[in-house]
Amino acid sequence: MKFSCSLETSSERIRLVNVISPLIKAGYQLLSQKQESSENGGNIIHVVAKSRESKTQEDLINDLSSIEGCSLFQLEIDEDDSAGAGAGAGASAVDAVSSAPPMKQSLDEKNALTSIGAQYPDIVDVVRRYENVVPNDIRDQALYELGRKVGGGIYQRDYSLGSPLKLSATISRELVPALKEFSKVKAKNDVISLIKCPFCKLSDSNHSGCHFVVGYIEGFLASNPAVKDAQVRETSCGAGSTNICEFTIW
Ligand SMILES: [Zn+2]
Repeated sequence: MKFSCSLETSSERIRLVNVISPLIKAGYQLLSQKQESSENGGNIIHVVAKSRESKTQEDLINDLSSIEGCSLFQLEIDEDDSAGAGAGAGASAVDAVSSAPPMKQSLDEKNALTSIGAQYPDIVDVVRRYENVVPNDIRDQALYELGRKVGGGIYQRDYSLGSPLKLSATISRELVPALKEFSKVKAKNDVISLIKCPFCKLSDSNHSGCHFVVGYIEGFLASNPAVKDAQVRETSCGAGSTNICEFTIW
């Protein structure tokens, strides 16, 4: 299967070679690669490559996500590339390079969800990057929607077996432990506080990252058939000050 991907390294010292050597070692056939500086002081590495037949998409995402010092933010898999292999493999590899689609720089919701799925619970970077690429006027809503999908998915994955709990037990026994995977949490009845909220940590006053948390909590609770439509509001945001963000559920 042929794919193109983009990874961002956490520092400029982590370079192209650090990304491609583990891929070569893992048996990928590289077709093209490129490095450029990222706005965040690291490098962006673009790679087009082919995997061996035995690799599944999941293997691929795992391999890419486990490269040290990098985070995957874009991945496109060319599903119908498997034909054409075999005879004239050399020629088809060349064709593959020249006909490779132009790489998408942007991180859309689908890519963001793929990365979140692959890296969970280390999702703060992906959420922040998504926040940066979404246009201003729809940013809060986009982060809320993304959060809803992630929160709903986590409930389905981890808590949907067995008989569903009522709201207050869902909060204390399921939601709080789920949120603790990416932040210190304090909870009192229907009020949940993220201590050092990682989603608005680096911003001065912008708290659109917290809309992700609002969406996450709503999506999580909405997936529980015994709760369904709980509403959530961020009743206090610590962006730019304490970083303690408080969410109220009712
Ligand atoms: Zn906040």
